[in-house]
Amino acid sequence: MKKTLSFLLAFACHTWLWGQSSKIQSELNNKPYFQQEVNYKISVKLDDENHFLRGQLRFDYINNSPDTLNFIYIHLWPNAYKNNETAFAKQQLKSGSIAFQTASEKDRGFIDSLSFTIDNQTLVFEYHPEHIDIAKILLKEPLLPGKSLSVETPFRVKIPSSKFSRLGHIGQQYQLCQWYPKPAVYDKYGWHPMPYLNSGEFYSEFGKFEVAITVPSNYVIASSGVPDANQEEDNFVELVKTETQKLLKEGFPKEDTFPKTASNFKTVIYRLEKTHDFAWFADKRYHILESSVTLASGKVVKTYSYFSNINAKDWVRSAEFVNDAVKHYSDLVGEYPYPVCKSVDGALSAGAGMEYPTITVISAGGGEKSLDNVTAHEVGHNWFYGILASNERDYAWMDEGMNSYYESRYMSKKYGSSSILSGLKDNVLGKVFHLNRLREEDINTMPYLLQARRNFDQALNLSSDDYTNVNYGIMVYQKTSFILQYLEAWLGTRQFDEMMKAYYEKWKFRHPYPEDFRAHVKEHTGQELSWFFDDLLASRKRVDYAIKSVSLKENKQYLKVRNKGGIAAPISISGVKGDSATTFWFDGFQGSSRLSFPTGGFDSYRINYSGKMTDVDSRNDIMKERGLCKKWRKPAIGLITGLENPYISQWFVLPTLGYNYYNQFMAGIAVHNIGLLKKKFEFIVNPMYSFGRSDLAGSAQANYFIMPSGSFFNTLDISASAEQYATRFTESVQRFTGGIKLSFVNLKHANKKESFISFKHIMIRQDLFLVSPTEEASVREDNFNVLHYRLADNRIKNPYSIDAEIQHGMRFSKAQINGNYKFSYSNPKKGLRVRFFAGTFLWKSDLLASASQDVRFRLSGQNGSQDYLFNEIFLGRNENSGILSQQMSVTDGGFKVLSFRGQTNDYLATLNLSSNLPGNLPFRVFLDIGHYNNEELDADPINYSGGVSFHLIDGIFEIYAPCFNSKAIKNTLQINDVGFGEQIRFVLNIPLINPLTILRNLNI
Ligand SMILES: [Zn+2]
Repeated sequence: MKKTLSFLLAFACHTWLWGQSSKIQSELNNKPYFQQEVNYKISVKLDDENHFLRGQLRFDYINNSPDTLNFIYIHLWPNAYKNNETAFAKQQLKSGSIAFQTASEKDRGFIDSLSFTIDNQTLVFEYHPEHIDIAKILLKEPLLPGKSLSVETPFRVKIPSSKFSRLGHIGQQYQLCQWYPKPAVYDKYGWHPMPYLNSGEFYSEFGKFEVAITVPSNYVIASSGVPDANQEEDNFVELVKTETQKLLKEGFPKEDTFPKTASNFKTVIYRLEKTHDFAWFADKRYHILESSVTLASGKVVKTYSYFSNINAKDWVRSAEFVNDAVKHYSDLVGEYPYPVCKSVDGALSAGAGMEYPTITVISAGGGEKSLDNVTAHEVGHNWFYGILASNERDYAWMDEGMNSYYESRYMSKKYGSSSILSGLKDNVLGKVFHLNRLREEDINTMPYLLQARRNFDQALNLSSDDYTNVNYGIMVYQKTSFILQYLEAWLGTRQFDEMMKAYYEKWKFRHPYPEDFRAHVKEHTGQELSWFFDDLLASRKRVDYAIKSVSLKENKQYLKVRNKGGIAAPISISGVKGDSATTFWFDGFQGSSRLSFPTGGFDSYRINYSGKMTDVDSRNDIMKERGLCKKWRKPAIGLITGLENPYISQWFVLPTLGYNYYNQFMAGIAVHNIGLLKKKFEFIVNPMYSFGRSDLAGSAQANYFIMPSGSFFNTLDISASAEQYATRFTESVQRFTGGIKLSFVNLKHANKKESFISFKHIMIRQDLFLVSPTEEASVREDNFNVLHYRLADNRIKNPYSIDAEIQHGMRFSKAQINGNYKFSYSNPKKGLRVRFFAGTFLWKSDLLASASQDVRFRLSGQNGSQDYLFNEIFLGRNENSGILSQQMSVTDGGFKVLSFRGQTNDYLATLNLSSNLPGNLPFRVFLDIGHYNNEELDADPINYSGGVSFHLIDGIFEIYAPCFNSKAIKNTLQINDVGFGEQIRFVLNIPLINPLTILRNLNI
């Protein structure tokens, strides 16, 4: 909704529709329903040498609206593939794919040769100012309510490569989807022009299609609709079908090359009514399976599948899968209204399958079961997209979500399991992550819980483009499916099915909006169901009930249950004895409630026993009837990490290895409670035995997270940590921190922005050797406060970050700012990286110079001994020579050359530039420039250093070789006799490759 809103504002003519008060909005809701009609007659010819379509299109537009129209918005979606500025191209980039951005002209596509006419009179058409895949046809005479007109145009489509999205070709296999000029929807909310995007594809007008397809005669056409009688084509298809039957018995050959194209052409006319879209596919290699399915009414639907040798193994039962899906949806939702249903094996770069009316294209690998699953989903779209044609761009849950719900019922019925993960249960991965201990329902809801428990979930009422990539799947598809299961469980399957069938009957071949669905459900059930529509659907609020106590009074069990979530949703509680359960549903409530439950000699009680509620924390769902510790969950130790199990309290162990020059090798065991689902309290303790010192090293950390669903911030993280390692001059260094961090996350589509503000107290305690390791050590303690703000956008093109920090110690305060920006080149992964650093002391005590820690700003990135906050991990913190002395961090002035020039108690400002080189080698050139103020008498006003760098993994392992330096730096190096080899420094950022850090920060 949001997206469309701002999008429509760009059109002055309809601004008023959206710009007015909600009063007008609700008046629009009450505006009588109407629906335009668009009937197409298209003739199109395939040029398989140059990958073009050439054709002629006529559409009859019938204005059933009460409004007079002066123009018609028209979609020209092949233009989405034209250049890097289209909404599709930008969406691809935002999603992290650079394939389209770097595509060659030959792989791109477009539509041109358009000339719209009415009665041979040419019309003016204007491209949308922002989207070249939308145009506006200006009518010479206004189209009055109840009147119709016929628009004609020639068109030419350059078919892009299939490697980007849907419309496309791979060699001479053609997917002709979203390929022809098509009017946008005009409904009571106005026009709905939308650029082509990979997600939220459709909102189109119903009508009739008559499409005459001309292709070289040896192509097999798989198309929406039913072909007109055509003896020649019938003979050709019969031949292919017979050959397919023969190969079914003898086996399909491995070879899958394209046969030579026939020199003569054939034309086949396809027709389809009561539909809003039309797609076709063509390949000379296709085999054809034909079958049919008889529906409950006795209606017979002919089914077909088309595939080539390469996937033949999975596709031998493909027509049967289409039959089963057509039957399933017809039985549960409403009878399939069309005479045919088909599935096609085709290349596709947007998902595993794609729906078009009466035809479905599937590129799924992964075997028969997966093909059956994808077929059911895509065929199911004939109902939720095809027949119940909601606005998918704005309300994808009504399309993908409702369809996923029925898909999961299909899989459960057929295979006893609807989980894609259930296949993993018994393999090694399943065991390592403890999937095998979980129920089907727990595994199914895991992706939703993963997001919800990190506060990364999104409401279901957002526009398709507002979801993060992963949330589009997890929220729109899965969460919708779960909440419909919840509703089904609450209403009872019979009432739910009746309600949905009535919805189908009422809204088939129309455009239902969410408010229409809600009104229907209310009418049918007599219930408001605000918990479903306002909370589960339209908000991020979550369900979380907890059993607090169980007590027996007057022969009745009373359960005290607390609602810890924000939704007064119905709650199911089961009395469990062995494997059997007696379940009761209760109305939802806020706060706490005492629920009475008949006594039945149960062992325990469990909320959400059936797994149909979307309860986000199952650890508080179970209570034993008797015993001292009714809430007791058996402790268990798992390996590495795992999924949450409501019956056991899990800790995990993880063998760890470490190394630094002073402790030498360290080995230990990390014990932690960090699972896939985030908990409020998490800890990790990692003691290690140091073989160098024969004593204890290691670290420990605890975090407490506050993650409200409806706040301006995402997470408030209160943390404490401790670590102990040795250095050259110490028996041990202990570092203790305590801090709070407030993180902000904007979950808009592919938004890679992050920001946080943190405050940390750091205490560093060192047992220093006064004379030598054999003498007694003296203890030194340093304390620092660090206030930090970070704003970063990790987008692929032109990413940037800003870090601002104030440090305060016993004898100083200093402030610094550090900015990074990458000016991306045409391949956005390459670019000119600019780093800016400026720092100044705010206050210093007279005793600063004699302070125990040297906290000066430095031109050069810090080495181990200069990292006074012990922020980074250095393999050899106090080395003056040898390879370990050459490790650096890109901090402070960020000069790669190590120089004792430019150490200052005053101020410092630097600029660090680095650029990729042409070609694909991992080398870059760099230049550091800086200015500082200190007491040096021979300081250069401007210092610089430059050279070549090698980047194995950006930010994790980098090597810098300075080749030239400004005068004072060069002199200092000469005086100290530092050779070229010793000037080379490297970055090794170990925390970034710690798997637990990765798990914690997993940002999908
Ligand atoms: Zn779908």
